[in-house]
Amino acid sequence: MVEAVATNQTILVVGGGISGISAALEAAECGKDVILVEKNPALGGRISQLYKYFPKMCHPSCGLEINLRRIKGNRNVRVMTLTEVAAVSGEAGNYSVTLKRKPRYVNDKCTACGDCATAVEAEFDDEYHFGMKQRKGAYLPFNMAYPQRYVLDPRIIGSDDAEKAKAACKVDAIDLDMAEESIELKAGAIIWATGWRPYDAAKIQPYGYDRFANVITNVELERMMDPFGPTGGKILRPSDGKEAKDVAFIQCAGSRDKNHLKHCSRICCMASLKQTTYMSDLYGDEGKSSIYYIDIRAIDRLDDFFRKVWEDENVSFIKSKVASITEDKETGNPILHGVNTEGYQRYSNPHDLVVLAIGMEPSVAPADFPIEVVLDENGFVEQDEANGAFFAAGCTADALDVNRSVQNATASALRAIQVVNRVAATEAEG
Ligand SMILES: Cc1cc2nc3c(=O)[nH]c(=O)nc-3n(C[C@H](O)[C@H](O)[C@H](O)COP(=O)(O)OP(=O)(O)OC[C@H]3O[C@@H](n4cnc5c(N)ncnc54)[C@H](O)[C@@H]3O)c2cc1C
Ligand code: SF4
Ligand code: SF4
Repeated sequence: MVEAVATNQTILVVGGGISGISAALEAAECGKDVILVEKNPALGGRISQLYKYFPKMCHPSCGLEINLRRIKGNRNVRVMTLTEVAAVSGEAGNYSVTLKRKPRYVNDKCTACGDCATAVEAEFDDEYHFGMKQRKGAYLPFNMAYPQRYVLDPRIIGSDDAEKAKAACKVDAIDLDMAEESIELKAGAIIWATGWRPYDAAKIQPYGYDRFANVITNVELERMMDPFGPTGGKILRPSDGKEAKDVAFIQCAGSRDKNHLKHCSRICCMASLKQTTYMSDLYGDEGKSSIYYIDIRAIDRLDDFFRKVWEDENVSFIKSKVASITEDKETGNPILHGVNTEGYQRYSNPHDLVVLAIGMEPSVAPADFPIEVVLDENGFVEQDEANGAFFAAGCTADALDVNRSVQNATASALRAIQVVNRVAATEAEG
């Protein structure tokens, strides 16, 4: 058991995506002591897997780099990766927390030279690319990963590969004896920023995600666009590697559906509109997109973005909830079946590739919270006095875009600061 130096004036932030990073920075830049824990080996969360951001269409790596620089330059924030919260007890202003930290098997001497990865033979599905690509058993989670330190996959520990990795490291950065640690600490307030996960597309049986190679998800498409990703920055059909120039987007795939997620995931209309621009960027007038939708929910000022795509003659909008997908065995084309509700015509439309605009669900299931928390019917954390000084940030609070996540995280940081300020004032008086 390790004791971390933290007091009931420390703010614990759980989840190192854009919301957790923002909340941690806002509090730290107000002079507060912050511990930021992330279960993955690197900070960044889901935005690190996006190719471009709507509405400005810039690369998320740019904003992420600025925030990481702020974190590196601020001594008030301590970052713990590969770490999760095992237990929480206590109350606002006085929480006792147990963290579990998994071994990285690589210490801070690592220079990220990559020699260990070259030496190791075992390969595994790369979770960063949703398994569309393999990575070595010694790896850097992604190019911009912070910390810039390699990780050894626990599945190679005890094998020849682990010894090969150790032998290849010239700076003695590999420590095969690292073990899981339990860490105890105090915190005055907790900001919960564990974010979202993509809804499991295989559960939407009529769409055949688990049966048809050329039915993919919107998050997988983001990875395809990465020049270092599984298809080298091109939209290719998984069945035969051909360029997909006629792509269908199915909206509300698993959202607004009583059998799946009841809520509107709020960003997937904008995500598909954005992804049609990937098609025109890659293939110009040859790239055709068809959006099958119930209604388009482009939020606030993002409406302008919608107008632009709506007027693009290479993008068609079909007002319909797609009923089912079958596959043309000869061509591998998915065929979409349904009724166009503007005119009530039945259709059976083949496309090169189908992208399911799947929605966001909270990444932590209701039963997995370490302390009792008030949740809404969709599993998002409510802003409720009964939660004490346990505050949700970003997509833990709702399905949000980045702008709203950051605003929400800033509000949570303010609430947490108010709690630890009260603790400090009480201690000064007493
Ligand atoms: C297809 C698609 C495209 C999108 N495109 C855009 C876009 O162009 N523009 C835009 O504004 N928004 C976009 N979004 C939305 C955007 O991804 C979210 O707004 C953003 O990821 C929210 O960040 P977050 O930090 O709240 O959550 P996350 O990014 O999910 O971060 C949560 C972090 O917490 C960590 N974590 C989870 N559980 C634990 C745990 N138990 N302990 C410790 N750590 C934990 C995770 O590993 C992760 O690092 C898109 C979403 C989708 C689905
Ligand atoms: S662990 Fe050693 S060999 Fe591997 S990247 Fe780091 S410094 Fe290089
Ligand atoms: S944002 Fe659009 S696609 Fe996503 S659930 Fe809402 S209406 Fe459906």
